[in-house]
Amino acid sequence: MNIKAKQILKDNFNNMVEVLQNTIRYNTEKATAVSGAPFGQNIRDCLDYVLDVSKQMGLSTYNCDGYAGHAQLQGTGEEVLGILGHLDVVPSKAEEWQYPPYGGEIHNGKLFGRGTMDDKGPMIACLFAVDALKKAGFEPSKTVRLIFGCDEESGMQCVTHYFSKMPFPNISFSPDGDFPVINREKGIFQFRVHCGKLPQGVAVTAGDRANVVPSLCTATVAGDIQGQLYGATVSSKDGISTITATGKNAHGSTPDEGINATHAVFKILANNYPQNETLQFVANKLLSTDGSAWDVNLCDEQSGKLTMNLGVVRTTAEGQLVVTIDIRFPISFTCEYMLDLIKSNTPSYFVVEASHPSAPLYVPADSQLVSTLMNIYNTAMNTNLEPLAIGGGTYSRCLPNCVAFGPLFPGEEQTIHMPNECVDLNSLLLMAELYLEAIYQLAK
Ligand SMILES: [Zn+2]
Repeated sequence: MNIKAKQILKDNFNNMVEVLQNTIRYNTEKATAVSGAPFGQNIRDCLDYVLDVSKQMGLSTYNCDGYAGHAQLQGTGEEVLGILGHLDVVPSKAEEWQYPPYGGEIHNGKLFGRGTMDDKGPMIACLFAVDALKKAGFEPSKTVRLIFGCDEESGMQCVTHYFSKMPFPNISFSPDGDFPVINREKGIFQFRVHCGKLPQGVAVTAGDRANVVPSLCTATVAGDIQGQLYGATVSSKDGISTITATGKNAHGSTPDEGINATHAVFKILANNYPQNETLQFVANKLLSTDGSAWDVNLCDEQSGKLTMNLGVVRTTAEGQLVVTIDIRFPISFTCEYMLDLIKSNTPSYFVVEASHPSAPLYVPADSQLVSTLMNIYNTAMNTNLEPLAIGGGTYSRCLPNCVAFGPLFPGEEQTIHMPNECVDLNSLLLMAELYLEAIYQLAK
């Protein structure tokens, strides 16, 4: 059965590539909502196209008000295997690309375009894997349901709406992460802390997004700056000193891969204003990337240490300091526990606002889902890898009993969310074969 299905998949590969090229040519960046198209007309058109292709394969389809849709191969039993991916993409600046981001051009064995890896390529690979299995006569016991989300990159309203109308599948994988399998994802929390007042004439600014390590921080101070500068520079004009610190951007889930520019600035200011409680708090508590200075340094064996990133700093017109911190906490803890811990370690007159709580994801390595997928990967690739733990969040955490399975192979160049996003055509076929095997094993 699988040999036959894999041959059909291979024979149909050119067709798969053509369908993928067609989906890439819809610019599915989020746009203004219109009737029936909550995330813009292009995303709706792309969803309609993919559901049309699915229908021609003999799959039944459902369009959930343009928020998401699904295509499915009916099973003989009650249970459902979900495959969750998305058709929307992050924006791209054409001038930074070697080939047009919505051209779907092939050069040197690679298909270029926004969405080729994230996430249209892997979803089209899964669709053609289902098609090949169907043509080979596969009659699954579980219904195989491919769910095409339309708003993964900017708010996830797609899954919120879809799962308000449809039940969760019994087990699922999401081809929107890394191979072999991601089965542990830390909890994610963002905290805005309204600290106390800064000294008269002091203002600090850094960063735009909590989940990015800021590479630039500036502060203005009335008067002179004394003492160590920690690599920052100071210029003075008309009695005002300006401190400028530069660092290096990194994703907020891996703060140690960057250099946080705010750290130098807060150390300088704390040295210059030893009596100011706000500056002492920030300098003494908020600058450790594992939370140890703040006594929030949670850790567990399964997913490692908590990470924290002081991502955004602003000063209000009244001279109050407001900072936003992105925290990734280990899987053994809950959002509630995290929030209580932060509040109890922060002066009570500081206001702590929490946003975007996202509970950790954990599917045990010895579960049927993870062990089956790991086995498929290691057998096909002749490797002996273990499932992965990450600090980032994938689409998988939108539903229970779901893990990320591909599409990025270990050691492969990563172009997701970057200019010149592309999928190697050999990798595309290989991932489609792995998806075929996974669908067969999990749904048979
Ligand atoms: Zn994605």
